[in-house]
Amino acid sequence: MSLSWITPAERVKKLPPYVFARLDELKTKAREQGLDLIDLGMGNPDGATPQPVIEAALTALQNPANHGYPPFEGTASFRSAITKWYNRRYGVVLDPDSEVLPLMGSKEGLGHLAIAYINPNDLVLVPSPAYPVHFRGPIIAGGVIHNLVLTAENNWLIDLAAIPDEVATRAKMLYFNYPNNPTAATAPREFFEEIVAFARKYEILLVHDLCYAELAFDGYQPTSLLEIPGAKDIGVEFHTLSKTYNMAGWRVGFVVGNRHIIQGLRTLKTNLDYGIFAALQSAAETALQLPDVYLEAVQQRYRTRRDFLIAGLGKLGWNIPKTKATMYLWVDCPPGMGSTDFALQVLQQTGVVVTPGNAFGIAGDGYVRISLIADSDRLGEALRRFEQAGIRYQPEALVSVMK
Ligand SMILES: *Cc1c(COP(=O)(O)O)cnc(C)c1O
Repeated sequence: MSLSWITPAERVKKLPPYVFARLDELKTKAREQGLDLIDLGMGNPDGATPQPVIEAALTALQNPANHGYPPFEGTASFRSAITKWYNRRYGVVLDPDSEVLPLMGSKEGLGHLAIAYINPNDLVLVPSPAYPVHFRGPIIAGGVIHNLVLTAENNWLIDLAAIPDEVATRAKMLYFNYPNNPTAATAPREFFEEIVAFARKYEILLVHDLCYAELAFDGYQPTSLLEIPGAKDIGVEFHTLSKTYNMAGWRVGFVVGNRHIIQGLRTLKTNLDYGIFAALQSAAETALQLPDVYLEAVQQRYRTRRDFLIAGLGKLGWNIPKTKATMYLWVDCPPGMGSTDFALQVLQQTGVVVTPGNAFGIAGDGYVRISLIADSDRLGEALRRFEQAGIRYQPEALVSVMK
């Protein structure tokens, strides 16, 4: 019997292929060929979850009260821990009952928010490049994406003045993310003030993804959307425990901000999931209460790797500006080379996995993202292989070819 009638819905068929999944296939193939892979592709932190968090989870697992369905809106205790954390970090007071919602990782919430708010053909403003769920969520919801193209010249900041008035007037929602994945760019506080004024003027639901809230270096403090006066009227902000606390597999995140926007997301999620295992919410509280020395150690680890890799790539001809945050370097492909070709060349010739920039949208082409998820000795090995394979950034060579 032919199964040709079993085809996915249009909303699934419309999705561009998920480049990370394709990268996984290539990695498997390379491993089968016996290559010793150095995987700097995913944004998967390589450290262990802090011991106090693991111990809190073990204790919580022993408590039968945690074994049933958790409350839809998250445990009162975790929501209260989130508001205390938020107040300590940003000096903003939130109502734990209406302005906070725990999530099974922020990716789920970022995607579901689009489904909760976007009707077919609604216009959604999304930077390009962007973290994939920022455009995939709206595509699944049937929305129309208007790309806000980010450029090196504008320091990878959204150019709000370049958005045509009729586009801004039509737009229903805007996603943005600083410190940024994949470009590692940060945005000054004035930018946050401008984007809040923009969203208020055009009545746009503003979605900020602050997943690198605490992965910042050299004294830099990322800005939270909700620090900006008036932001809570039109916006929400997503946070995660995945990155700084090495808890990517635990699936714990949360959204804070406008109570009406959060209520829409809660209503949708009540119909689709039961939220996070209560024992994990209990452990997550412990994570949010860890002393600052823990965070400083994590920041120090990524900072060391950043400095090591920027210096090493510098010897191979790359001039990469020092990043102030995130676990990534955003690296130009050698002139004339596209992202996919360069990432493939690197993989095949060196066994080093980097992510082609076009995985984050067409405007990411011409770049690859390198994740700082290996220690300096492995990063050093990656650099040695680059050197051996003759992988360099060589504008001088191109200039002489063009002459
Ligand atoms: C890693 C990351 C997330 C976190 O996703 P979780 O689902 O919370 O693990 C969200 N947004 C961006 C931009 C990221 O890089």
